Amino acid sequence: MKCPVCGAWSSVKQTRDSPTFGHVRRRECANEHRFTTKEVFIPQEDIDEERRSHLEGMRERLESIRARRRKTTRKDT
Ligand SMILES: [Zn+2]
Repeated sequence: MKCPVCGAWSSVKQTRDSPTFGHVRRRECANEHRFTTKEVFIPQEDIDEERRSHLEGMRERLESIRARRRKTTRKDT
C-alpha cells in the first residue's frame, strides 16, 4: 500500500481488530508519514459485480469511440 501523502511504499506497524472497522492497520511510509487503513471482507459476488460493471463501462466507451469514428469517416467521404 502506498502512502497517501508522498506515494512511497508503506509498512504495517500494528494490526488491530476493531468491532466497527474490521482489521485496522497502522502504517508508516519510508518518509515517516503515519496513516491508518482498514481491511474488510468482500464477498466474491461483489468482486464479480464490480468486474462486470467495469467491463460493461469499457464496452460502452469502446462503442462510443467506434460510433464517433464512423461519423468522422462519413463526413470525410
Ligand atoms: Zn509518505
